[in-house]
Amino acid sequence: MQEIKCCICGKRIPVVEGNNPYPVKEWSAIGSTKNRCCHSCNSNFVTPYRIMLCGSSEAKVNWTHEILKSYTYERLVEVTEQVFGKEIA
Ligand SMILES: [Zn+2]
Repeated sequence: MQEIKCCICGKRIPVVEGNNPYPVKEWSAIGSTKNRCCHSCNSNFVTPYRIMLCGSSEAKVNWTHEILKSYTYERLVEVTEQVFGKEIA
């Protein structure tokens, strides 16, 4: 089974388990071997930011995406914990 690295945390995952990491990282299609993230990053980061940005202007979504993708994993964890008031294991 072909494996890839989660583009958010770096964990190795089978291609079939990759999720689209947008807006945390670049958008990607199902089956892509680039810019895919694991299930835990999908639920810890991607889904909360998508919900937060739901209904936001395109400009705000783009602006948030630019900031999120510039973060290291450690910074992303720190900011996400602050923004959503939850602890990420
Ligand atoms: Zn991950």
